[in-house]
Amino acid sequence: QPSSLSGLPAGVGEALESEGVTELYPPQQAAVDAGVVDGDSLVAAVPTASGKTLIAELAMLSAVESGGKALYIVPLRALASEKKAEFERWDDHGVTVGVSTGNYESDGEWLASRDIIVATSEKVDSLIRNGAPWIDDLTCVVSDEVHLVDDAHRGPTLEVTLAKLRKVNSGLQTVALSATVGNADVIANWLDAELVESDWRPIDLRIGVHYGNAIDFDDGSKREVPVDRGEDQTPRLVADALDTEEDGQGGSSLVFVNSRRNAESAARRLADVTGSRLTDDERDRLRAIAEEIRGVSDTDTSEDLADAVERGSAFHHAGLASEHRALVEDAFRDRLIKCVSATPTLAAGVNTPARRVIVRDWRRYDGEFGGMKPLDVLEIHQMCGRAGRPGLDPYGEAVLLASDADTKDELFERYVWAEAEPVRSKLAAEPALRTHVLATVASGFASARDGLLSFLDNTLYATQTDDEGRLAAVTDTVLDYLAVNDFLDRDREGSTESLTATGIGHTVSRLYLDPMSAAEMIDGLRCTGEADEDGGTDEFVRTGGDGDDLEFGTYTRAGEGRSNEDVSDGDGSGEAAGREADGDAALSPPGVTPLGLYHLVSRTPDMYELYLKSGDREEYTELCYEREGEFLGDVPSEYEDVRFEDWLASLKTARLLEDWASEVDEDRIAEQYGVGPGDIRGKVETAEWLLRAAETLAGDIEGVDGDTVVAVREARKRIEYGVREELLDLAGVRNVGRKRARRLYEAGIESRADLREAEKSVVLGALRGRERTAERILEHAGREDPSMDGVRPDSSASAAAT
Ligand code: ADP
Repeated sequence: QPSSLSGLPAGVGEALESEGVTELYPPQQAAVDAGVVDGDSLVAAVPTASGKTLIAELAMLSAVESGGKALYIVPLRALASEKKAEFERWDDHGVTVGVSTGNYESDGEWLASRDIIVATSEKVDSLIRNGAPWIDDLTCVVSDEVHLVDDAHRGPTLEVTLAKLRKVNSGLQTVALSATVGNADVIANWLDAELVESDWRPIDLRIGVHYGNAIDFDDGSKREVPVDRGEDQTPRLVADALDTEEDGQGGSSLVFVNSRRNAESAARRLADVTGSRLTDDERDRLRAIAEEIRGVSDTDTSEDLADAVERGSAFHHAGLASEHRALVEDAFRDRLIKCVSATPTLAAGVNTPARRVIVRDWRRYDGEFGGMKPLDVLEIHQMCGRAGRPGLDPYGEAVLLASDADTKDELFERYVWAEAEPVRSKLAAEPALRTHVLATVASGFASARDGLLSFLDNTLYATQTDDEGRLAAVTDTVLDYLAVNDFLDRDREGSTESLTATGIGHTVSRLYLDPMSAAEMIDGLRCTGEADEDGGTDEFVRTGGDGDDLEFGTYTRAGEGRSNEDVSDGDGSGEAAGREADGDAALSPPGVTPLGLYHLVSRTPDMYELYLKSGDREEYTELCYEREGEFLGDVPSEYEDVRFEDWLASLKTARLLEDWASEVDEDRIAEQYGVGPGDIRGKVETAEWLLRAAETLAGDIEGVDGDTVVAVREARKRIEYGVREELLDLAGVRNVGRKRARRLYEAGIESRADLREAEKSVVLGALRGRERTAERILEHAGREDPSMDGVRPDSSASAAAT
C-alpha cells in the first residue's frame, strides 16, 4: 500500500490512495524494492501505460523529502506542460514544481526555488551551458522515454546531458524510464543503475492481425469482422468496436496512419461511422467543442477538424496547433470523440488510450531509405500499448491490417512475435559531436583533448562500442572544424593538447547554436560589411558533408535540425502577447533585406527545411535570379546540383517567412507551401530564435556595422509579430496581434501613442465592437481610462477595415 511507504512527504501515500492507487503495480513494487525511494538509481523498462510515472514521482518526492531537488527530463515540449500540471498536485504537500520554458539563453535562475523542475533535454543542455546555478543542487534526475537515446537527431543531447549531470553531482540518483527494448540492461549498466524489466500490464492486451473476415489474435482467439474483398478494413473495425458494448458503452478506436494527410482524410471518412452512432446529448457537446476548435484559428485545418469533431471523429498530428491538440485529447478521454486518426507522435507519451488500436500503416516513406520503410518494432509496440483504458475497458485490442495472407504472416513475424530492437547510441556522428564537443569545452567539462575523450567515456556510446578509436577519430575531425572556424583554441604542449573556447565559441555554445549554423551566419553577416579582398568566405571550412562513411547518423543537411517542437522554447502563442516593441524602428541599410536574412537563417542546419515539390525548382530558380542582390554570401551555381537544390529549399523557407512578415494570411501560407499551421508556427519560432542569435553574433564579430545589427533586429521583430514594418509599434502592444494591428492602422491609429489619444469609438469600430478586447488593448497601451462603457463603435472604422 502506498501509505505504508516511508520517506515520502506527509500525506502523499494517502493522497495516492484517494486517487485510486490502492496498491502498487508489480513493476512499481519492484522499483521500490530496488531502492527507488532510498535514492538508488534505476532503469524501469516496462510497457506503455504500466505506471512508470508513479515510479518517477516516488523517486522525486522522496528526494525532495530528504532535502533534495529533482529534475524530470521529457522528450517533447508538449509533454513538459502536461507533466508539470500532473506534478502540481503535490503542491498541497509542500512540493513546488516549475517548468523551464523561455529562451535558450536564459539560465532559469528562478527555478532555484522549485523542488521539481520539468524540462526537455535540449533545454536542460542549454541551462547547463548557461550556468544555471541550481544544477549543482540536483539530487535526483528522471529521464522519461530514455530509449530515445537511439534517435539520431535528439538522442545524443540526452546522452551527453545525462553524462554531464552525473559528472557534476557524483551521488545523483538517476531514474530512467524506458519502453520495453531489447537491451535495457545496457542502459542500466551505463547509468550504474538497478534494472526493473517487466511485461506486466494493468489491463490485458491482445495483438492481432485482421485479414479477410476476422482478426486473429496472439492468444489464439479469433474475432469475426467480415469485410468484403476490396472494401476498406478500417471503418468496419471502428464500427465493430463501437457496436460492442461493455459497461453500456461502445469502444473507442485510435487509428495510426503514416502521414498527416492520411490522418486528415481518414478522420473525414471515419466520421461517417462515428456520426451515425451519437446520442443527442453527445452531438450537442461535440458541437460546442467544434466551436472552440474553430475559435482557435481561422484556417482550413481548423475547419476540417471541427467538421470531423462534430461527428465524433478527429485527427491528431504534429501540424496541429497545441490548443487543437489539447481539445482533441480531452474530448477523446471524455469519450465524446469516438475515433482519432493519428500519426505516431501521439503514441509517444500523450496519455490517450482507446479500447481498440488499429495500425493501418506499418510502413512510412523515408527519403534516405529511398522508399517505404517498415516501422521499428518499438514504434509499433508503443502504438499497440495505447490500447485499453485501465478502469474503463475490460481489455485492450491492437489490430494490424493485412490485405493478403502473406502479409498477415509477415506482420505476425515482424511485429506480433518480435521483440523490440536494442537501442544504439548515435553519438559518434559529426553533427552531434560538433555541438557537444564545443559545449563540453566551453562549459568547463574538459580543457584538453584527453579530458574530453575521458568525459565522452561516460556516454552510452562508449559503453556500447567495440570500436574504441572511432569516437576519438570523429572527435578529432570535429576539433579541426571548431578550430578552423575560430570557436576553439588548441595549444599543443608536448603530448597534451589543451583546449579553450574563444569568445565567439562561448557565445555560440550559450546561444545553443549548431556551430555549423553559427559559421554560416557569421560568414553571411561578414558579407554585409566592407567586402574584404578575398570575400571572406574561404576561411570557413565545412566538414560534415562527407559523413557517409559513418556507421550511424549519416550527415544529411535537410533532416538535421532539432525537431521543431523543441527548437525554440517560446510560449508558442504566436501572437504578440506579453511582448513590447522596444523603440522606434530604423531603416535597414540598403543591401541587407529581410529576405536576405531569412535565407541566411533558413540555410543553417538548425532550420528544418521545406522540401521542394514538383514545379518548385523552376519557381524558386526564377526567384533566385530576381532577388539575387539580396542574398548574403555566394549563390551556388546551377551545376552544383545538390547544393543548388538545397539552397533553393532554403529559399522556399525564406519566402514563407517573408510572406508571414508581410501579413499574408496563415491559411494562404499553409496552402501555398503545403504545410499546417503548426508548421508555420514552428518555422516562425525557429527563425525568431536564430535571428536573435544572429543579432548577438553580429554585435560580436568584427567587420559588421551597427546598421546590420539594426536590420537583423527589425527582420526578427517582423517575424515575431508577423507584420510589415509600419505595424511594429502597434503589434508590440499586448493583445493586438497582426490582424488587429492592421485594422487599427487602417482606421488611422498608427502607433501606441495614437492608441492613447484616439477616439474610443474608432478603436472599438476597428476592433469590430469587441469591448473587452478594446479595453484590454487600451490598458496595455497605457491609457488612463480604458473603459468602453457607453461607447458605440464608429461603423466607418469597421467599414474601412473590411
Ligand atoms: P506510463 O507512464 O507507464 O505510460 P502512466 O504512468 O501514465 O503510464 O500510468 C497510466 C495510468 O495508470 C495513469 O492514469 C495512472 O494514474 C494509473 N496508475 C498508475 N499506477 C497505478 C496504481 N498502482 N494503481 C492504479 N492506477 C495506477
